[in-house]
Amino acid sequence: MEISKIGIVGAGQMGNGIAHVCALAGYEIWLSDVDQTQLDNAVALIERNLERQVSRDKISAAEKSDALDRIHATLSLSDLGQTDLVIEAATERETVKQAIFEDLLPHLQPHTILTSNTSSISITRLASRTDRPEKFMGFHFMNPVPVMQLVELIRGIATDDDTFKACKAVVDRLGKTAATAEDFPAFIVNRILMPMINEAVYTLYEGVGSVQSIDESMKLGANHPMGPLELADFIGLDTCLAIMNVLHDGLADTKYRPCPLLTKYVEAGWLGRKTGRGFYDYRGETPVPTR
Ligand code: NAD
Repeated sequence: MEISKIGIVGAGQMGNGIAHVCALAGYEIWLSDVDQTQLDNAVALIERNLERQVSRDKISAAEKSDALDRIHATLSLSDLGQTDLVIEAATERETVKQAIFEDLLPHLQPHTILTSNTSSISITRLASRTDRPEKFMGFHFMNPVPVMQLVELIRGIATDDDTFKACKAVVDRLGKTAATAEDFPAFIVNRILMPMINEAVYTLYEGVGSVQSIDESMKLGANHPMGPLELADFIGLDTCLAIMNVLHDGLADTKYRPCPLLTKYVEAGWLGRKTGRGFYDYRGETPVPTR
């Protein structure tokens, strides 16, 4: 099946990155959100990120303006009815995602493939509540989307071969690399990454190290490009906590217990970079540790 029109639900950090790379690859994009400010910010950010690529000679000015012309921002899910593929990239909460699919289904054409960019939630369960479990799968981009090479493709129990092939062809056209993962909580990348981040928060909680010493230790001692707490802020602490809860509930193992300090930061609304404060305070010139 040839895909030419893509709908993206959720214009946060992932949605805007997905819109950016898909528009640049020639797909016509409908980007939707419940919040007009998020849509405006997303389009402005895509414009700035494309401009950066032009200034580094990665793309031409014409490619930038063509990509921007292909992005249609909308508050209305019904506008996504004309698309061949929908990538849901809204908040990491199962009830939110379920409600989106419910609202979306009456507008879709029979051939439209539905996917979710979820970091952890069961693809099989999300699919089972739609009218097309065989045309449903996980399409998991990494953050920041324009930079990161990997896309995890996750088949639900009912996903058919044509759907998988169509999604794989999109990944190929984006110039990215697909890794297939089985549908178990948090798939591959986050099954490994999130317990490490959670352990870093425990290390802070128990006073073994400060924010700075933990991040520096993992950068200089394990050769990680970012420290785990810096990375948690970058991902979003609400998303990290949601993923740990899915691992804890889905695998019923206490080793996935979310650190109470992570919960406290989320309760405070200190969600990391996107809210200006997390394990670091980003409101000044340089990030300052908050503990
Ligand atoms: P975000 O908080 O930056 O953005 C979420 C967006 O969803 C917001 O713009 C919000 O307004 C919108 N939204 C909420 N409810 C909605 C609804 N009912 N309809 C339409 N839009 C709605 O979050 P994010 O980091 O972009 O994460 C989005 C998804 O991508 C999550 O499932 C997350 O697990 C996944 N993901 C995140 C990362 C990461 O590093 N942050 C990486 C890979 C995948």
